[in-house]
This record gives sequence, structure tokens and C-alpha cells, in this order.
Amino acid sequence: MSKQSSTFINKSEAKAFDLEHRRKLLFNIGKYDATVIKGKQQYVDLELVKKKAKNIKWKVMENLDKYLVEFESNFTANGGKVIWANDEHEAQQEILKIMKAKKAKMAVKAKSMATEEIHLNEFLAKHDIESVETDLGEYIQQLDGEAPYHIVTPAMHKSKQDVAELFNEKLGTNINLTAEELTLVAREKLRNKYVQADIGFSGANFILPDIGGIALTENEGNGRLSTSFPKTHIVIVGIEKMLSSFNDLSTFWPLLSTYGTGQKVTVYNTVMTGPRRTEEADGPEEMYVVLLDNGRSKLLADSIKREALYCIRCGACLNACPVYKNIGGHTYGSTYSGPIGSVITPHFKGMEEFKHLSYASSLCGNCTEVCPVKINLHNLLLFNRHEAVEEGHASFVEKTAWSVWRKAMLNRKLMDRGGATLKNTAISVLFSNSWGKHRSMLEFAPKSFSAQWRENRE
Ligand code: SF4
Repeated sequence: MSKQSSTFINKSEAKAFDLEHRRKLLFNIGKYDATVIKGKQQYVDLELVKKKAKNIKWKVMENLDKYLVEFESNFTANGGKVIWANDEHEAQQEILKIMKAKKAKMAVKAKSMATEEIHLNEFLAKHDIESVETDLGEYIQQLDGEAPYHIVTPAMHKSKQDVAELFNEKLGTNINLTAEELTLVAREKLRNKYVQADIGFSGANFILPDIGGIALTENEGNGRLSTSFPKTHIVIVGIEKMLSSFNDLSTFWPLLSTYGTGQKVTVYNTVMTGPRRTEEADGPEEMYVVLLDNGRSKLLADSIKREALYCIRCGACLNACPVYKNIGGHTYGSTYSGPIGSVITPHFKGMEEFKHLSYASSLCGNCTEVCPVKINLHNLLLFNRHEAVEEGHASFVEKTAWSVWRKAMLNRKLMDRGGATLKNTAISVLFSNSWGKHRSMLEFAPKSFSAQWRENRE
């Protein structure tokens, strides 16, 4: 068993029995569920829109090489600079070069999972560069020294009281502040940071190749402030965020907001096409886009699993997943959690270390059901399991157990021979470790199927 796998099992067990954790999580997911129902009402034919979105993503992924080059060409013509990063290390080093050239000491950062993926804050801290999260949820998580808990709602596992206590401890505020007052405290703290920062970081929800731009979606306005106040704006974005054109936003913006937060459309939707033009009054003097691969090409090369790259990171599959609802986001030990995290993490970070995530599913199919771009998530989990076995990552005990099981199940005479007690003992010996101590073992009926069949026919 890999180190990641045993940590995952230990953490899962702790979280699954933490009733307070579950109460907070279910409360927040309950609110999400109620809002999404209302958001969906804006559609006359939602299924048709989902199919359209999937078709667009299919077309883009089948031609991603061309779209990437088109984006680079148009964005460069707009005055921007494109950096290609194969992995976390390359992305970090390229960013460091820019930071050094600018003698940067402080950065502000809008919410971005790609920056989490390359551990940007930790990397900058090592080089004595302060990086301040400006999204409220991310700011709370940064104050608490925690990674985001959810890809859309970073502090989903915290109650208002948890935040009040955190602010009291870290910022010295009154412990009885209301949610609005806590927000104002964060706002006040962050305002000065925007003007002091040398660099603004953001991710991108979508890449727009035809106009050479990126689209950013957010609810707080911090994204706009983080990207327009500092003199340099650096975007870090996974290459799969590509759309085929600006016009696709009319499909994807409402779809992302409906499934992400239940809103008809998110409050701030911004398209950025390079640095400030001479005739413009504000905006950064320089704009870079780091196109991050970090394992995505491996998925792209696989004609079946490629579908995982259609993801628009709405978070709906996390909120729908019975496993996520029990064990929470941090347990996964990866940047991306929930069903989509379980699908892509073994490809991004290594099948041997992370294959266990593909087994952390009941295969109920709820994730596939809710996905706005119709990714066949639960099937992809099965494909991952298959790949793990093909690559030889199954243990000797596991292989032996299934081989014995298969032989027995295909041999009617063998199944008829032993009594239920013998079969129950054999199952218990073979599977007791992997079955988990909180599940009762399978129990055979006192009489075999053949015996019951004969009796019923007499
Ligand atoms: S896999 Fe689908 S439901 Fe899950 S985050 Fe991505 S787009 Fe949303």
C-alpha cells in the first residue's frame, strides 16, 4: 500500500466519524443544492445545453494543439507573453525569473486552482516574496495555514463561528463579529495590498484562442483588482481550459455559474486580452500567460480518458458525491478532490501513489449525472482501476484473492461442495483486510444456489 493510500484511509476514517465536520459540510452543500435548483430554471432545455457544451469541449480537445498555437499567436499580437510550462518546476522557475527581473517583494493572488497545483505560495515564500490571497475563502484558508477544501468554495468546511474565532486569533478582531463584519475586516486588510503589490496572479476559467484572451469569473471583484492594480499580471492556467472561441462564453459562463454556485450568471465576468493599451487608463503594463501541462498531455494522449479534460471546475460532482460528503476535501491529499480529483490525480501525480483515489467511489454515478459537460466520471474511475492493474500496481494479495474468487465463482461444482460456513471463512481470510473493519463481510446463504434451484423445481 502506498504512503498516500494509508494516509488517505486513516484520514477518511477520522473524518467519516467526525459528526461536527459532517454537519457543517452538509449544511453548506444543502444551501448549494437549494440554489442550484433555482439556477437551473433559467434553462428551457438544460440537457441540450449540456450536450452542446460537451460537443464544444470534444472539438477543442481533439484539436487542442491548433487552438493553443492560435491563442499564443493572437495573445502575443495583443502585446502579451506566453510561457509554456511542462510541469510544476518549470512553471515555478519561469515565474521566479519574472519576479527577480521586477525585483518583486509582494504579490496579490486571485483564486486559482492551477496556482495551488504548482504550490505557488509556498514557492514564493521560500524566495522571500509575500503572496496574499484576495478571494475571501482563500484568504481565510491562508490565515489558517490550510489548502483550499473545495475547488469552488475553499472554506466550505468552516462555519461563521470558526471564521470569527480564526480572525480573533490571527487579526485580533472581536469574536462576536457577524458574517458581514468579518467580510469588511478582510476587505479592509486587502485593500492596501492591491496597491502595494508588484505582481498580480490569477488563473483563468477559459482561454479564448480567437481573440487571444482569457476569461475570469468571480463574485467578489478581487480578481479584477488583483489583475489590474499591479504593474505585472501573471496568469497560470491549465491547457485544458481552452474554448474554441469567444462566442462559446455564452454557453459556458451561465453553465459554470449555475453548477458552481446556483447563480444565473456570476457577478464579475472579465475578458482580458493582454496588457494595457496606450489609450487605456488602467490595467497592467505587462501580462504573461503560463500554459501549464503538468500531466494533461498524458490524459490527452488517451482517447478515452481525454474526456476528463472537458472539466470546467464547477465543483458540482464534489457536492453530489457521497464519498466527498463523508470524508471532505482535505482527505484526498491532492489539489483536486472529489470525483474529478479521483479521476485526474493519478495521471497528474502518479498512478502508483494515487490509484487508491479511483477506488474511493461507490460508483453510484451521481457525479456523472450532475456534470454540466457530461463527463462520464464513474466510468473513468473504472478505466483508472483497469490501468492501475495493467501497469502492475495491484498487490500480490489482491491479485491472489481475486484469482481464487474468479476460479471459485466460475466453477459450479466447487461452489456446491463447501457449506456456507466454509465459504464464509474463506471470504473472510481473503478479503478481511481490504474489505474494511466497518463493513460486515459477505455472507453466503446456508444452501447453495444449485440446491435452492433443485428444491424450488421439485
Ligand atoms: S467533472 Fe464535471 S461536475 Fe466535476 S467539477 Fe468538472 S465540470 Fe464540474
